[in-house]
Amino acid sequence: MESPPYDDSNIFAKILRGEIPCLKVFEDDHVLAFMDVMPQADGHVLVVPKTPSRNLLDADPAALSALAPRVQKIARAVKAALGAEGLTILQYNEPAGGQTVFHLHVHIVPRWSHVELRKHSGEMAKPETLVPIRDKIVAALAEAK
Ligand code: 5GP
Repeated sequence: MESPPYDDSNIFAKILRGEIPCLKVFEDDHVLAFMDVMPQADGHVLVVPKTPSRNLLDADPAALSALAPRVQKIARAVKAALGAEGLTILQYNEPAGGQTVFHLHVHIVPRWSHVELRKHSGEMAKPETLVPIRDKIVAALAEAK
């Protein structure tokens, strides 16, 4: 079955254009990374390529090449900042694959052996909870430089 084409009215395209706010963790020419508003664990970050694609399936391989090392760099900072024991990296494709926002993105979710993953697109976190976590991740990224 053919997927619909990329539609730039999606929420992440709006965030990339600065039309709606986000809690930014990292930005360069290739990606914007920000806190997930419905985190599956404390410290859940989304890494969004600036090159538009609906998901992995229609992405430009050059955009994927730029994405991978940035996901790695941010993942290391998230793990260090949160004192996580591990990380789950998630990427959903199409509604049947669990995708809800149709602009490619990679989830970085810190993990601890005793902490269950919360529901995908579940409960909205309060900014006062997310901001101090974001600040720790930004500090860890600065230290990694
Ligand atoms: P997907 O199901 O497409 O892989 O994941 C979309 C993710 O985006 C979900 O984890 C959801 O919590 C998050 N999300 C949805 N809307 C917003 C938003 O407006 N801002 C942010 N920061 N995250 C969002």
